[in-house]
Amino acid sequence: MIRGSCCCGSIQFELNKNPSSMGTCYCSRCRKAGASLMVFVQSEDIKWIQGKELVASYRPEPPFTYVRNFCSRCGTSLGEILSQEKSFPLAANCLDDDPGVRNTFYEHMESKPAWYEN
Ligand SMILES: [Zn+2]
Ligand SMILES: [Zn+2]
Repeated sequence: MIRGSCCCGSIQFELNKNPSSMGTCYCSRCRKAGASLMVFVQSEDIKWIQGKELVASYRPEPPFTYVRNFCSRCGTSLGEILSQEKSFPLAANCLDDDPGVRNTFYEHMESKPAWYEN
């Protein structure tokens, strides 16, 4: 079991299984949303403890489609935790325990800012 929470502690959940993978997306949208480093989880593996009703959603203008989720109290980025997809990305930074996977792929390297050195 892997615990996850936001900065203020209002939102708490658990993953019943290790995420399938971990990756970094350098696109400006992920960077600004604070979810560049993410783990991919299955929706059925998320067990809510508390605070689901406090999750806020940012719906982008087309052509962008992915809704980003945040804690409405402290702003912690949660990735796409309310997604209806079977598998979706979760911000790795909100995990409290070792998810058992390591960063294995990188996306949108061309958008990587000059100040990222690795
Ligand atoms: Zn919070
Ligand atoms: Zn991205």
